[in-house]
Amino acid sequence: MTQELMLDPTDQTDPAGPHLVRDTAPPPCRDLRIVSEKPRVDLAAAERAAEDFLTALGVDLGGDGLSQTPARMARAYAELFDVRPFRLTTFPNEEGYDELVLARDIPFRTVCEHHLLPFGGVAHVGYLPGERIVGLSKLARLVEHFAARPQTQERLTQQVADCLAARLNPRGAGVVLEAEHACMTLRGVRAVGTTTVTSALLGALRADPRSRSEFFALAGVTRLTGRPPAGRPRRKGEQ
Ligand code: ZN
Repeated sequence: MTQELMLDPTDQTDPAGPHLVRDTAPPPCRDLRIVSEKPRVDLAAAERAAEDFLTALGVDLGGDGLSQTPARMARAYAELFDVRPFRLTTFPNEEGYDELVLARDIPFRTVCEHHLLPFGGVAHVGYLPGERIVGLSKLARLVEHFAARPQTQERLTQQVADCLAARLNPRGAGVVLEAEHACMTLRGVRAVGTTTVTSALLGALRADPRSRSEFFALAGVTRLTGRPPAGRPRRKGEQ
């Protein structure tokens, strides 16, 4: 038996949503299908707009190398915004495992909503199990799901944490994103090598200092714990 819920990509407020259909008795394996309404994509219109955009900036599209650029640009951005539905399958926590579950260094990429330039890096997503556990690959899929739209790093971090908390009902949920923003490195201050770190902690991972520092230490985010974890090489720029 599956449960399905719709997740509206424009709904930034309540990732649990009102759409969750609960059975009277929860099934042993719960499938929460996370889908977003596919926005209508008009590639031809996007291509025309890209051509106008580049021409307005004085780019000569006459040469062989650039003649197909507006079409490629349109397809590239369409791909970046293509939200793939997936099933967030959860299982009963039969062993009563109550320590931290953490998926570390999940690569992600998205574009900043302010400049439409890429930003990306790694995500660390963890939770303290309650009655149910989730397939580990689904933690990466959650990040990918929310990254497939113009984003801010802060919102992306919060959305992944909120969604995990709402779907899984764990005792705690934590998300850390470490990212480099092209709008900071290629333009503006050109602060090459600058990494932005954001975190969102919920439940026991927020309330309990010991759980919180364990989460940051296992995630390897030494800047937030003050000391590097054992066995993990320091990253470039770390003290
Ligand atoms: Zn930006």
